[in-house]
Amino acid sequence: MKKINRKNIIERPKLKAFEKPIYVTRPLLPSIDEMTGKLKVIWESQWLTNNGAQHQMLEKKMTEALKVSNVSLFNNGTIALIVACQNLDLKGEVITTPFTFPATTHVLSWNRLTPVFCDIDPVTMNIDADKIEALITPRTSAILAVHVFGTPCDVEKIGKIAKKHNLKVIYDAAHAFGVEINGRGIANFGDISMFSFHATKLFHTAEGGALAYTNKKYKKQIDLLKNFGIADEETIILPGINGKMNEIQAALGLVTLKYVNDERKKRELIKKEYIKQLFGLKGISFLPEIKGVRNSYQYFVVRIDEKMFGRSRDYLYEKFKKFNVFTRKYFYPLCSQYECYAYLNSAKKEKLPVANKVVKEVLAMPFFGGLKVKDVKKICQIIKMIHTKWI
Ligand SMILES: *Cc1c(COP(=O)(O)O)cnc(C)c1O
Repeated sequence: MKKINRKNIIERPKLKAFEKPIYVTRPLLPSIDEMTGKLKVIWESQWLTNNGAQHQMLEKKMTEALKVSNVSLFNNGTIALIVACQNLDLKGEVITTPFTFPATTHVLSWNRLTPVFCDIDPVTMNIDADKIEALITPRTSAILAVHVFGTPCDVEKIGKIAKKHNLKVIYDAAHAFGVEINGRGIANFGDISMFSFHATKLFHTAEGGALAYTNKKYKKQIDLLKNFGIADEETIILPGINGKMNEIQAALGLVTLKYVNDERKKRELIKKEYIKQLFGLKGISFLPEIKGVRNSYQYFVVRIDEKMFGRSRDYLYEKFKKFNVFTRKYFYPLCSQYECYAYLNSAKKEKLPVANKVVKEVLAMPFFGGLKVKDVKKICQIIKMIHTKWI
């Protein structure tokens, strides 16, 4: 009998770590020359902040980009969200999701509002609209929902519940720049939507944000609230904060905005490549495409079902680091697990079974226009090798 060379049989492909680290995102940057051109204009004007020319231009462009009638720009999304709560004069309790970035829940605390956590939908990972009504009490004043990873919440159902119980609706749309439902800008739903223009977001101004809303009566008060409540030199009419976007941020936004569609197209191809490579792999799933919804291309996340995949999300996350790939466990831990909120009755694990399951499954993959297709292929190769337990 011929001797079997064991070494040949178990020959496994060797993969080297990436030479340079691959991060979950890279900021979209316009050409430096375009930016310097803008800076020259600002220098000549000697107007650096307080509703300058760049600010006015960007605000107008944002109403077009977001397809909504009113926009107020801010120095960041968190301050914008704080101001949204102030503008609606919220009191008492606000029903919200535990599966989000810390800012969403913190904003309620900064307004002395009590977060009431509602469990999430197992597919969209957004607040489960069917579980909201059971949480409403006489103290409830609003619903603060998040369009997680750019997937719209069930805006129709949430709108109906709000109307029935006379509640305000605020959307944290930090991931939802450019998202539309059947051609309607996402900010046309709810009372106020917040967008973040942080460097990690698809469209950004380094730091920045905006409130978008359909009620034009809000404009005056929101703009007062972000500028110390100053109506004129000698009249201060309410306790405002400093939430102003400056001219340099606005200028960066104006030049970056030109490249956003291009970036979207690149990300679309990257997403297709990921799905092509990973499709059918047991235990891995992707966010569903929803008919009539325009994608934000903000994140590309996968969900790992440990039992079916054979390895946990955390195993993948750690193994990727060895290959110089830095994925993110968005949003781990849940807001309801933070020490500052865990004491709340609604934060109890048994009340949030779906969120507590999902939070262990989601991994945000490297996703930015500059990512090369061959790198996506290699990242997927790593996943496949982990699945077969070769690594
Ligand atoms: C980025 C983000 C924020 C915070 O926005 P900033 O502009 O960084 O203050 C809030 N909520 C969510 C869901 C985010 O992703």
